[in-house]
Amino acid sequence: MLVDNYNRVREQILAACQGCQRTPDSVQLLAVSKTRSADEIRELHACGQTAFGENYLQEALDKIDALRDLPLEWHFIGPIQSNKTRTIAEHFDWVHSVDRLKVARRLSEQRPDHLPPLNICLQVNISGEASKSGCAPEALPELARTVAALPNLRLRGLMAIPEAETDPARQRAIFAQVRAQLAALHLEGTQPDTLSMGMSGDLEAAIAEGATIVRIGTALFGPRQYAPAHL
Ligand SMILES: *Cc1c(COP(=O)(O)O)cnc(C)c1O
Repeated sequence: MLVDNYNRVREQILAACQGCQRTPDSVQLLAVSKTRSADEIRELHACGQTAFGENYLQEALDKIDALRDLPLEWHFIGPIQSNKTRTIAEHFDWVHSVDRLKVARRLSEQRPDHLPPLNICLQVNISGEASKSGCAPEALPELARTVAALPNLRLRGLMAIPEAETDPARQRAIFAQVRAQLAALHLEGTQPDTLSMGMSGDLEAAIAEGATIVRIGTALFGPRQYAPAHL
């Protein structure tokens, strides 16, 4: 069943890319495995999936430990408490949810020397976003400049979590704002090129607006069953 879901999501990404003349390898599938077991991740890895996204730190650490034998890429995509930055810096390859300077500075300071720079997306709070997390658009240029200059971080781009929206035109309008914000960042050195946007319900719209990473949970694993600790 996981393999069927995986093939269906791959086909959906392929069709979305064809629909807007993009090459399929320009979109990376990030499997969002929060609340899912290490065995399910193992099963998805056997289908060819290597990048996994987690929101809850302790749950993620247990799985990272249980899956040490696999060459997986781990992405932290949940809200970040500043007292948890060391653990994140030590165990993840990417962080998508950086929204303030304090967290960025700590991640850079605490990134172990033997690891490559931590890949960073800045979470931006675009209009219509329900949650309070994410950097305000006005504060983004300064945050981006600072992160780009931190030695142990590599600024890759922006991440957004729009409010659930079923109308494709409105989905696209929001994603277009994120794309415009990335384009408006003018940094010294290389321009970041990652747009982490699009989930199970809006991946086509996100890809049409330039998403380079889509974060997919439900369409791969089925509906989540939250344990009380997550509520
Ligand atoms: C849970 C989650 C997802 C996946 O959402 P689905 O709708 O299940 O695909 C993507 N991004 C973030 C930040 C999430 O927390």
